Amino acid sequence: MIKKLLILFIVSFNSYQFAIADEGMWLPLLLQQLNEEQLKTNGFNLTPEDIYSVNQSSLKDAVLQFGGGCTGVVVSPEGLLLTNHHCGYGRIQAHSSLENDYLTNGFWAINKEEELRNPGLTITFISRMEDVTAKVLDGVNDQMEENQRNGIILRNTQKIKEEATANSHYGAIIKEFFYGNQYFMFITETYKDIRLVGAPPSSIGKFGADTDNWVWPRHTGDFSVFRIYADADNKPASYSPDNVPYKPKHFLPISMNGVQKNDPSLIFGFPGSTQQFLPSFAVKFITDEVNPLRIKMREASLSIIDAAMKADDEIRIKYAARQSGISNAYKKWIGENLGLKRKKAFEQKLEFESKFKGLANVKNQNYLKILSELKENHEAQKKYRLGRDLFREFIFYGPQLIRFVSDFNNIAINYERIEKDKAVDSEIEKLKQKTRGHFKNYDKNLDQRIFAALMEIYLEEINSEFKSELQSLITSKYGNSTDEFAEKLYDKTIFSDFDKTSNLLDNFSSSSIKKISKDPVFSLMRTLFISFQTKIEPEYFRLEGEKDKLMREYVKAIQTLIPNKNYWPDANLTMRVGFGKIEGSSPHDGMNYEFKTTLRGVIQKRNPEHKPTEEFYVPEKLVELYENKDYGPYGENGEMPVCFTASNHTTGGNSGSPIIDAEGKLIGLNFDRSWESTMSDIKYDPEICRNIVVDIRYVLFIIDKFAGAKHLVEEMSLAN
Ligand code: ASP
Repeated sequence: MIKKLLILFIVSFNSYQFAIADEGMWLPLLLQQLNEEQLKTNGFNLTPEDIYSVNQSSLKDAVLQFGGGCTGVVVSPEGLLLTNHHCGYGRIQAHSSLENDYLTNGFWAINKEEELRNPGLTITFISRMEDVTAKVLDGVNDQMEENQRNGIILRNTQKIKEEATANSHYGAIIKEFFYGNQYFMFITETYKDIRLVGAPPSSIGKFGADTDNWVWPRHTGDFSVFRIYADADNKPASYSPDNVPYKPKHFLPISMNGVQKNDPSLIFGFPGSTQQFLPSFAVKFITDEVNPLRIKMREASLSIIDAAMKADDEIRIKYAARQSGISNAYKKWIGENLGLKRKKAFEQKLEFESKFKGLANVKNQNYLKILSELKENHEAQKKYRLGRDLFREFIFYGPQLIRFVSDFNNIAINYERIEKDKAVDSEIEKLKQKTRGHFKNYDKNLDQRIFAALMEIYLEEINSEFKSELQSLITSKYGNSTDEFAEKLYDKTIFSDFDKTSNLLDNFSSSSIKKISKDPVFSLMRTLFISFQTKIEPEYFRLEGEKDKLMREYVKAIQTLIPNKNYWPDANLTMRVGFGKIEGSSPHDGMNYEFKTTLRGVIQKRNPEHKPTEEFYVPEKLVELYENKDYGPYGENGEMPVCFTASNHTTGGNSGSPIIDAEGKLIGLNFDRSWESTMSDIKYDPEICRNIVVDIRYVLFIIDKFAGAKHLVEEMSLAN
């Protein structure tokens, strides 16, 4: 079996071709099989070793995963890094208050002493990667049960990781690719002292906000600046005033040349998740049922949050990051549905499946049953998937109270054991910390209204099989009035009040357990979780396991039946490279997207009536720079470039990824996709899919001319 696998992958990768401006998120390691000629033909003056090397510093050493879900790039010998404003947003919010409103006014450290620490924020470099398929699958065969297979894989994986990192400060991650047909290990180096250096005001970094999000033409200066600190040996260390700026193995020089149509563009980053191999029925399920349900839940909470943020500055600061997180995916799912339907993704998949069946009929009839088994599995899993989505939307993106109260579950249920272990004090300390964090960004009245609105949808949508006792009690007692129910609940619970919760923790004793257990929100939380954990989760995961196996077989079958094609593995938050070129698009008849925008467009979008916290406010200083055409060395032919589009295949997680030119220099930071591209996580269409990039010259212009932080630009290496 392993031999067969190896042969399969040698076949797929030894003629490693890539086409510029085509789909694909490639593993940098495999680019070593590219030859220089291929890179040259596609316009890059780079060798594969320049991109990824373990023997010498290469582009990959300047690229980092930022905070677990974004990408960043090192741009100075003193560990200065650039990422998106929306990636640093939570941190900028955390440092903001009504007195120091960095979200609205921006923040710039004049010197290193003024840089702000960010407890909990980490960045990760990849020091090397390795194909460990044979080692991970050692002892596995096709005949064994999945449980047995998974047990062996888990043991092998742990062993490989331990061996790879023994006596070192490195970490190791092993991830599956092609649904478990291949495994790669990533050796990581994670830095823990990351400080905020600068951020433009949201009127630049988030200009156009929700209206412009996922939309081209775009005029957002979506960047923020941080610095990595290390110990005296340049190694990762927890925060200390003695730490020093990190000295990178490689940092990207910055191109001042700007971009021209059809220039090659390379993206390096950590894309989060794509699902290119989904069968037709799964695509249809997403467009017809999953997305509409999630959109409905988010629409309800956003209408309440948006109005409250507009009316109250304190709420605006408290809810800034939460609102962005909820609305970002909400709007994307709307666009994704439109695109998938317009481009007939379902029909295209059907067509592919009929080709697949035709080939299987001729070459290997064992493959014929995979799709029908997948369909059966899909039908059985549907209701559990919807129940799970509903639960997750309610608990993680709905009211914050239930999630917060779930943190008290451990002490309430395991008190005796915790006491025996003499761990009560440390558990209380943890809860106190969580309590402070929770109430910092919480408004009782607002949360109560979100609860009422989402509970109503929850009761309406949840499959009757999963209705728990309490849910029927709510309906029998309050009918449809989740408002009344919410009012009672928030009134009676101690957990919606900071003082009452702190009081409980400050004077904690065994009798407090009773108090927690009797709290109405605590018992609602228990009922919701228990119902989810007993009625939905077990069957969901059982079917998910079955699906994993079928998808593994399906993808292997596709690669075997259609062998002379290079397959890229779906994104899974691991380091990838994508090739594209600078280009606009023509997404609809009679509609043409230019590939670049300028400051003129910012001024055109400006709404002079907007306050500094509103979407289309433009700071006076920026207007002045525009009127005086005071662009310093960053302008081009009397214009100030702002954003451009390219045809790099990207997804969430690629936010903050460097866009690199033919010479290995930084030309911009990826931050979004156009409206027509939101479908690309499921179906990439080279005609219309474009990523949106903030031009590096706009970043420098804002730092230098707008914010007066020229010292930061001086740290970088600018090249013409
Ligand atoms: N703006 C995106 C994000 O939210 C980036 C993308 O998905 O293209 O991460």
